[in-house]
Amino acid sequence: MAAERGTVTSLPVDMMIRSRNLFIFSLTLLATTVLCRTMVRAAEHAEKLSADPKIAAALRQISAQRIQADIEKLVSFQTRLTLSAQDPESIKAGHGIGAAREWIKGEFESYSRDCGGCLDVKTDGFTEGPVDRIPEPTVITNVYAALKGTDPESANRIVLVTGHYDSRNSNSFDVSGTAPGANDDASGTAVSLECARVLSQLKFPASIIFLTVAGEEQGLNGSSHFAKMAKAQGWDIEAALNNDIVGGNRDPQQDPTVVRVFSEGVPITTTEKDLHLIRNLGGESDSTSRQVARYIAEVGRTYNTGVKPLLEFRLDRYLRGGDHISFNEEGYAAVRFTEFREDFNRQHQNIRTENGIEYGDVAKWVNFDYVANVARLNAAALASLASAPAPPGKVRLQAKDLENNSTITWEASPGNPSYAVMWRATISPEWEHSQVVGKVTHTTLPISKDNVIFAVRAVDSEGHGSLPVVPQPER
Ligand SMILES: [Zn+2]
Repeated sequence: MAAERGTVTSLPVDMMIRSRNLFIFSLTLLATTVLCRTMVRAAEHAEKLSADPKIAAALRQISAQRIQADIEKLVSFQTRLTLSAQDPESIKAGHGIGAAREWIKGEFESYSRDCGGCLDVKTDGFTEGPVDRIPEPTVITNVYAALKGTDPESANRIVLVTGHYDSRNSNSFDVSGTAPGANDDASGTAVSLECARVLSQLKFPASIIFLTVAGEEQGLNGSSHFAKMAKAQGWDIEAALNNDIVGGNRDPQQDPTVVRVFSEGVPITTTEKDLHLIRNLGGESDSTSRQVARYIAEVGRTYNTGVKPLLEFRLDRYLRGGDHISFNEEGYAAVRFTEFREDFNRQHQNIRTENGIEYGDVAKWVNFDYVANVARLNAAALASLASAPAPPGKVRLQAKDLENNSTITWEASPGNPSYAVMWRATISPEWEHSQVVGKVTHTTLPISKDNVIFAVRAVDSEGHGSLPVVPQPER
């Protein structure tokens, strides 16, 4: 034994280092291979919805030319600062936020004429200020169109898409300077408009709201008012999709195949009691907003939209915010779509050239094909959710006895749908497995609840799946 040990330790030092390096290299290679295999396996297993040919056909109607015309029209109002002109003369002259508002309303009304009056076009106006970035009392008006659901049992369920039509330049008080806001956020406004134009040609059991808000740049004022109104009136908004900066600006470092989808982890409305449970169960990544984000990822695998959602497991970009947060604050599930890479020279900037760098959010940097693809992804998510049955209620995981099987119970959704139980490893970002369990309200699976996160979704006879609901423990 001693001789053997001696033989090993008598190896030349450089050889020992080399063999150690080789060992580390082999380990790294092994780890990389395992990691890659795991990633491939996760992608293979990640869940998909069944494609609906009606939805797929509608997505093909979304037009980059229409989106380009919408964005250029919005830019033509010169500024859409919330504090800019909205008197009748300026509206007539096509200048300022008032003119933009009237034009958006007219667009929604024209889509409604094309579908036999199927859209209910409304405004949500209120006076704000003086506050932070609103020095004088100012009328702020959200404009929206509602496509009412055709099923009396589902019409109260709402899915919503929004973008902000206000803009700003370097100075958030500059009421007359040019503020084209082509990317931020005529692009998101165009997504709401184009989704309305195309989806109003179809009928859905649940309702869809196509919203455009003002006041975002002054402090999320429009979306905050709208979300509070929805909450006060008891609206059942299942998902709010906020599109802000989805122009896919044409920089070489941009990735036009990807759009980021931000979602909050632990909800802002979580109570102390719920926090305790989240900590115990490892529920930090299972907010309703995150289920919406995962749903969008499924939609992205189901339909050919031309752009892939990249899930970002955080509320918004680092220390920044947007209109989806107004909905989160009222307890609604909401996510934000934003292009892969923002160009900060072209946001909130006066149009100018300095040291050869062009500043300003003008239309020439916007990739209209990209915006159309983002609109397709939004439309596919809206149409899928509005076609699906309501998610099951009171989903519970039985935890009275210690056992390695898992029993889940739930309350039936209206319309007698089937149900699927989904699960994923606790370390996995997306649902990895789905098992149809039929028209039942309970099931027992031979899988330990200690090792996975479960959810239950309702599925109709055509394969439209609801948002998955993660069970609460029941003892
Ligand atoms: Zn914005």
